[in-house]
Amino acid sequence: SYAVGIDIGGTKTAIGLIDSSGVILAKTSLPTDLSIKPDEMVDRMAEAVKDLITAQGIQESDLLGIGVGAPGPLNSKTGYIVKPPNLPTWWDFPLVDSLRRHFELPISFENDATAAALAEKWLGAAQDAEHFVFITVSTGIGAGIYTHGKLLTGATGNAGDVGHFVIDASGDQCVCGQHGCWEYLASGTAIARQASALLGREVSSKEAFDLAAAGDVPMKDLIDGIFRYIGIGCVTLINTFDPEMLVIGGGVSQVGAPLFDAVKDYVSQYALNPSGRTTAIVPAALQQDAGLIGAAALVHMPY
Ligand code: ADP
Ligand code: ZN
Repeated sequence: SYAVGIDIGGTKTAIGLIDSSGVILAKTSLPTDLSIKPDEMVDRMAEAVKDLITAQGIQESDLLGIGVGAPGPLNSKTGYIVKPPNLPTWWDFPLVDSLRRHFELPISFENDATAAALAEKWLGAAQDAEHFVFITVSTGIGAGIYTHGKLLTGATGNAGDVGHFVIDASGDQCVCGQHGCWEYLASGTAIARQASALLGREVSSKEAFDLAAAGDVPMKDLIDGIFRYIGIGCVTLINTFDPEMLVIGGGVSQVGAPLFDAVKDYVSQYALNPSGRTTAIVPAALQQDAGLIGAAALVHMPY
């Protein structure tokens, strides 16, 4: 049995045909063009889906459904994209109704971090967990929460918006209006901003990690501070949800051992004593295509 996964992002929308064991049989992508009306983008998505399945010799009636992951804030109950900062022309757009103009299939719709958490449960690092939190440290910070064997979606599908946990109320102001939010202090964007200020030139988060690893002391101090902030947010999540594991993904997690070792060390000292302190902290298993697999998981996995 097959599902179509659609992963809507700020730069591109990935579309794939995924079977019940998670194999991507075919995929394509459309650049996200903000000058094109969302309804027309949906027309293009639908056309791409139809081309994709036809090329595989599959008919619409062979599909279990369509899963859609999109950046929040959204409303998974009404099927609306609500206010994603990087899709300004899509605000208050009835995405699910727009897709229904093209397909008579069940459509599942959740925010992308929630979908990515379900993907880790389905095929990734959390297959055996009944309680875990997936955290993505990327352009921003987000989470998907899986508890008591189910996804925690919240009333509108926006549960897990942990990027705006306040970590340091004396910090600078975040786009959300609060001060010292987790993603303002510790996302990839935040690392690049702080490293650039330190060196007085444009520095990417990857370069900041490389300089710290090569022994640059001020940069190492900066990165240690970032890892401490990541640890603080992780302790809050552990103490709130009592998970068996945290799964950490997103571009920044690519740095690997330095981040995981620092977070494990922080958690081992400060999470709830004793059970929280030994919480497993593992890298996400699905990196490439995680968004597509997550969207398809919304169809293939009960949640
Ligand atoms: P998105 O936010 O669009 O989902 P990513 O998960 O790739 O994309 O996250 C992008 C962020 O991660 C950027 O801030 C980028 O600088 C950072 N990043 C990507 N790859 C690496 C890497 N290998 N090491 C450190 N930071 C990285
Ligand atoms: Zn904020």
